[in-house]
Amino acid sequence: QWKELIRSYQWLISEKGIMLSYSLPDTEIYGDPSLLNTVWDNLLTNAIKYNQADGSMDVSIHKTATTVSIKVEDTGIGLSQTELERIFERFYRADSSRTRTMEGTGLGLSIVATIVQLHNGQIQVTSKEKEGTTFIVELPIEPKEDLQHI
Ligand code: ATP
Ligand code: MG
Repeated sequence: QWKELIRSYQWLISEKGIMLSYSLPDTEIYGDPSLLNTVWDNLLTNAIKYNQADGSMDVSIHKTATTVSIKVEDTGIGLSQTELERIFERFYRADSSRTRTMEGTGLGLSIVATIVQLHNGQIQVTSKEKEGTTFIVELPIEPKEDLQHI
């Protein structure tokens, strides 16, 4: 499933000259498949959009006894500390994204955060300007009954 997902971005990735590496063992993830797909889509699209022309990105999965973490790491334009604090706000776009005339509404990450929350997960982000950004989505392995109420 993951390999296929990644393959659907291969064209965009190669077109931008980005080097992609991944470590994606088959892992079952509980939750709403289409909502979770929205999460991966925005994180992967961001890692491509806000990357450098000769940048790279790495996607990996890490399991613990109770959680599954998906990490999307890029060597892109990065974000300052003040920008980083606002990226999950609706419609927020960092200056560099606007001046680069990258398309986007600034809604992606606010939706991502909502979906992750709905799955009782957590999202972490670290970033350094001009060096890159790393997003980690951590989801509980256990099925979540609350999901039935979405
Ligand atoms: P949309 O996702 O709605 O198409 P968007 O990508 O601009 O638009 P978000 O995904 O919510 O919106 O991201 C918000 C802002 O956070 C982006 O405009 C960009 O400034 C910054 N950002 C997000 N991901 C990255 C990243 N991987 N590297 C650098 N900046 C990022
Ligand atoms: Mg986005």
